[in-house]
Amino acid sequence: MEKETADNYVKAGKIAAEVREASRDIVTAGKGYMEIVEKIEKMIRDSGGEPAFPVNISVNDIAAHHTPTKNDTTIVKDNDIVKIDVGVHVDGYIADTAVTVNLNKDYIDLVKAAESALEEAIKVVKPGVLLSDVSTVIEETIKGFGYKPIDNLTGHGLNRFDLHTEPTVPNVSFASDYTLKENQVIAIEPFATDGGGHVKDSENVFIFGLIEKKPVRNAEARKIIDFADSLNGLPFAERWLPIDSLFKIRLALRELRERGVLHDYYVLREAKGGMVSQAEHTLIVKDKPIIITK
Ligand code: MN
Ligand code: MN
Repeated sequence: MEKETADNYVKAGKIAAEVREASRDIVTAGKGYMEIVEKIEKMIRDSGGEPAFPVNISVNDIAAHHTPTKNDTTIVKDNDIVKIDVGVHVDGYIADTAVTVNLNKDYIDLVKAAESALEEAIKVVKPGVLLSDVSTVIEETIKGFGYKPIDNLTGHGLNRFDLHTEPTVPNVSFASDYTLKENQVIAIEPFATDGGGHVKDSENVFIFGLIEKKPVRNAEARKIIDFADSLNGLPFAERWLPIDSLFKIRLALRELRERGVLHDYYVLREAKGGMVSQAEHTLIVKDKPIIITK
């Protein structure tokens, strides 16, 4: 890996770690989702990074991909289990990290399960190690706490302006002879639950990404394509769009989704309504891995 690339990853990681830790204080009962995510996204930009995706605030049985809509008035409630998932990029080099801010004292171990699984998994990481060994450690650690890993949410490789590349890092044991390679950048993200151990799509989509540009007549749709293109394919939220009318935004988004221009990141819910915790770090694979979001 070139020095400039490594420096950008380290810088993105440092910002991501700072805002992740700050979010432990930012998330409190009674505060609006919108205020929380806007504060975190502003911190990222003020620190010299860019959000690599809209800050996700996924609460209780919502596992991932939730971010407030333009007119959202939802507030954090007592006893909520709040996952804050943050992506920061510097010149396209992405750090992806998450924390569970737990306001529910009945689920302290659920959070520990995800955090310990991440910690134990990182201990295994080095070039040449079987990826399946990393996954097995995650599964066994979470089960050791009496919870289930979510088997259809995974960690992933990262590349420049690319949030999900090879390898996929499952949270459960699997059969493969794939080994980790030196200088691969990977995000490891265990999810633990007291539910069934799977997520399913909800009916909501608040995060989108450009699949391919196509000619469109609608002026707002064209604006959205240009906006998405300016992010180099990284995901965006409805609330980021430079269009005032929510009605026009929704109409244009629907057209773009139907035409296959935009990818939908459906809000993911634990299929049996279980509570969900998450922990995540981004690492550069080396004999002594660099945890850029530590
Ligand atoms: Mn993440
Ligand atoms: Mn991730």
